[in-house]
Amino acid sequence: MTDIKVGVVGAKGRMGSEVCRALEAADGLTLVASMDEGDPLATFIESGVEVAVDFTHPAIVMETLEHLVAAGIHVVVGTTGFDDARLAKLEELLARSPGVGAIVAPNFGIGAVLLMRFAEVAAPYFESVEIIELHHPDKVDAPSGTARQTARVVAAARTAAASAEMPDATTQALDGARGSLVDGIPVHAVRLRGLVAHEEVLFGGEGEILTLRHDSLDRSSFMPGVLLAVRGVADRPGLTLGIGALLGF
Ligand code: NAD
Repeated sequence: MTDIKVGVVGAKGRMGSEVCRALEAADGLTLVASMDEGDPLATFIESGVEVAVDFTHPAIVMETLEHLVAAGIHVVVGTTGFDDARLAKLEELLARSPGVGAIVAPNFGIGAVLLMRFAEVAAPYFESVEIIELHHPDKVDAPSGTARQTARVVAAARTAAASAEMPDATTQALDGARGSLVDGIPVHAVRLRGLVAHEEVLFGGEGEILTLRHDSLDRSSFMPGVLLAVRGVADRPGLTLGIGALLGF
């Protein structure tokens, strides 16, 4: 079988450079192109890339994807900031290029994806749930895409189980003191030098607390998930959100 030709957008970044290293060491994948800010996207597209991996910036990712998808290139997207409007726009782009696949994952860490799955299972059994995400202070968006996605999954599981509204007697609060609400779930963001990427989901019930926590201690933790997505994206035309489906959830 011939190798899959892969390109990396944002190749000089913290994640992009790690992806380049992982691709160079991986079987069945060849890194044929890499680009960063200022490099022409046309040259990247003309290099014969079959799958592009994007770890760039929420402000420019949509424009890049528009060109890549129109050129028939499958995309694996780690850049965060994908709200419902952006996902709808991407689906529209994919509909115009049948057969092209896009995997957008707020978190490629297999442990983090498992945390989300465990949170979904636990959600119907507790009265209260809050999420705390903790990251390095160079991160530009808050709350993290992972925390938003966890909140959506937990909220959907609570709705499906017809869970009662969460107890909260707060009537006075400073702005932000109760976090921001994502589908009704409070999400708190901490930015602290020394941290990498961490998430806690706290469930509270009568007389008990269940805390689920995941710590990403090194960017290499994301690479098995990225490579899984690169290998699987061509077999999944259209939009795939997260790598859960690739892990069999
Ligand atoms: P970074 O700032 O280190 O890297 C971003 C790179 O993109 C930089 O090298 C920058 O020059 C480049 N860039 C900017 N504009 C560009 C353009 N127009 N064309 C090509 N390259 C361009 O950031 P990072 O820490 O590597 O994170 C990148 C993104 O990935 C962020 O959105 C971050 O939140 C996200 N992230 C996702 C995961 C995940 O598992 N999904 C994990 C970590 C980080």
